Amino acid sequence: MPMTERDEEVTKYDAILIGAGQANNPLSTALAEAGWSVALVEREHVGGTCINEGCTPSKTMIASARVAHMARRGANYGVETGSIEVDLTRVRERKRNIVKSFRSGNRQRLEEAEGVDLLMGEARFIGPKSVEVDVNDGSTCHLTAEKIFINTGQRPRSLDLPGLDDVPSLNSTTVMELGEVPEHLLVLGGGYVGVEFGQMFRRFGSEVTIVQRSAQVLSHEDADIAEEVIDILREDGIEILLNTDAVRVEEDAQGAVALHVDGPDGESVVKGSHLLVAVGRVPNTEHLNLEAAGIETYHHGYVKVNERLETNVPGIYALGDVKGGPAFTHVSYDDFRIVRANLLEDGDASTDDRTLIYTVFIDPQLGRAGLTEEMARDRGYDVRVARMPMSHVARALEVDEPRGVMKAVVDAETDQILGAAILGLEGGEVASVLRVAMMGNLSYTALRDAMLPHPTLAEALNNLFMTLE
Ligand SMILES: Cc1cc2nc3c(=O)[nH]c(=O)nc-3n(C[C@H](O)[C@H](O)[C@H](O)COP(=O)(O)OP(=O)(O)OC[C@H]3O[C@@H](n4cnc5c(N)ncnc54)[C@H](O)[C@@H]3O)c2cc1C
Repeated sequence: MPMTERDEEVTKYDAILIGAGQANNPLSTALAEAGWSVALVEREHVGGTCINEGCTPSKTMIASARVAHMARRGANYGVETGSIEVDLTRVRERKRNIVKSFRSGNRQRLEEAEGVDLLMGEARFIGPKSVEVDVNDGSTCHLTAEKIFINTGQRPRSLDLPGLDDVPSLNSTTVMELGEVPEHLLVLGGGYVGVEFGQMFRRFGSEVTIVQRSAQVLSHEDADIAEEVIDILREDGIEILLNTDAVRVEEDAQGAVALHVDGPDGESVVKGSHLLVAVGRVPNTEHLNLEAAGIETYHHGYVKVNERLETNVPGIYALGDVKGGPAFTHVSYDDFRIVRANLLEDGDASTDDRTLIYTVFIDPQLGRAGLTEEMARDRGYDVRVARMPMSHVARALEVDEPRGVMKAVVDAETDQILGAAILGLEGGEVASVLRVAMMGNLSYTALRDAMLPHPTLAEALNNLFMTLE
């Protein structure tokens, strides 16, 4: 049980967890089950970005967009559907209900957890072992602990673009609260948030223009995969401007957003009804007063950690997006596993050699596991590349969704699979199959020769790896 030293009004815990994100939530209960007294401080809502503003709401709305898309394609399957109307208020209601149920489930689990005190308020350091919390009811409290875990996540990055303060603009959170389908959505940024939302609103019925500064969308991916993504998005009717910089923005006389851009053909103006700014995210560290504890940061304020997620200050850890690097829910959850193993299970877990996996939820999905071809070459591997269009996959043809490509990168010396990009129907699931094979150190020949059920998407891995013969 936490001890209160009355004179100083300081409550002492074994651990203070700041931010109820995807790492601290499970960590709070794991520590409490091990007998620690735990204070979990959350300033807004439990579950963090993923449940409230990220994965859950966006994937719920993307599901509605896919239904609209498939309904429009009904005739391709011999099914007549009539005209398709999207009611964005009902799409939003469905999204709000799912978020609400996930959030309240999370909150209930925490409130019922013995040994966890959930404090709704904003935390900041006042020393290496001390935290002050502005509780949401207006009071302030002072906590101390030997161990402190920072899991405060990120928020959308704002853009220093002349005129932006004078026009209405949306970010990844507010765009999901629109009650009407925008007539023409301008999307600044061609990262995964930009392409997912761009395609989603196109399917709801908007005109969509994506403005991307660099030469490809999804700049972390191999150029050939990014080209395939662009082909799919353009086929869906999305305009994509590459190598194009936003210069300034204003509202024109008709109330439209006029975005001045500088592209390969010089300066021009793109007009739309709404502007979504999706130019990346920044860490939530500015209110944490990290200096009071002497915690080192880097680049935009990300917390510096070692491979065991320890900061430079003994006893203070950072987990999830706030430490920088790949920002995904499963990465944050895996950070929790590392800390749990090292603190509670006498383990020696680290982020070294952690194989990255993620899915970009465009449709068809881009499932990614391990290294890209470019990364593998940069690391000095002698690389072989297996590549096969989805139009060679029986399952994809049968369900009439043959867009995309399967690609796998293999170490020519050892036949080990180094990475994969599966752009195609259920690409995230197929990439997960490859990730499991990589975990078991299977050579590509094992997948080439594996008996897999016909006609599934996984079965296509036989043919994918046969392209290496
Ligand atoms: C639109 C969108 C879509 C996404 N889709 C996916 C996806 O499909 N798959 C995927 O894996 N990832 C996705 N992500 C990323 C994913 O949401 C994050 O990587 C994930 O939530 C991990 O975050 P976290 O655990 O680091 O912290 P978060 O979940 O961001 O939680 C941090 C918490 O800390 C709280 N906090 C901050 N400062 C303080 C403070 N001073 N005091 C108290 N509390 C504080 C915040 O209120 C927040 O609740 C998406 C993100 C966005 C924006």
